[in-house]
Amino acid sequence: MPKYIIFIGPPGCGKGTQATLLRDKLGYDHVSTGAVLRAEIEAGTPLGKQAKDIIEKGGFIEDSLIEDMLVSYLAQKSDRPGFILDGFPRTLVQGKWFESYLNHSAGQLEKVIYFFVPEEILTKRLSGRFTCAQCGASYNHYYKKPKVDNVCDACGHTSFSKRKDDDMAHVGERIRLYNERTGPLLPFYEETGVLVKVDAMRRVEDIFTDVYHSLNS
Ligand SMILES: [Zn+2]
Repeated sequence: MPKYIIFIGPPGCGKGTQATLLRDKLGYDHVSTGAVLRAEIEAGTPLGKQAKDIIEKGGFIEDSLIEDMLVSYLAQKSDRPGFILDGFPRTLVQGKWFESYLNHSAGQLEKVIYFFVPEEILTKRLSGRFTCAQCGASYNHYYKKPKVDNVCDACGHTSFSKRKDDDMAHVGERIRLYNERTGPLLPFYEETGVLVKVDAMRRVEDIFTDVYHSLNS
């Protein structure tokens, strides 16, 4: 019986890092929507071809295609003991779809981990981040500046880049959209008793300790 752990959290909450740690600890597969998309496209499956076509035309990939690709991806990895879903479901509609998928496939939802970060901190994490244009080392204007101003600690390079959607206006909009879309999933999972809220403002190791222990409680 395949087991599933769902990670929910806003952009910048650090859940990708936690998913990698948990994957290594449990031997589960780390499933992000991006990874599923890439795997299907690389494998050249009919669904992957369909998705590639949409992306090349600059179109929008609908929920139903994401869901079909997820089913295909999970079937290919059926030898894994379990899966960590990182960023899926992200809406209540997807959550309900996944619930019926679990029922049909006799899958077991172990826990849903919600990585909580106050909005104000999240804004700083996202709007403050920048990377070295040479080596890609990451920094944050509020939390992790280079030791010498404007000089990369790792390679000494002096120019940096910033993601376009990390400016204040875009960050505010991303957080608002996230709350609107994903927020309704929290009461949905709370009702069935699988939701665990983890304070994601601490050290990576401390957060991981909580995540890991919550699975056995
Ligand atoms: Zn650098």
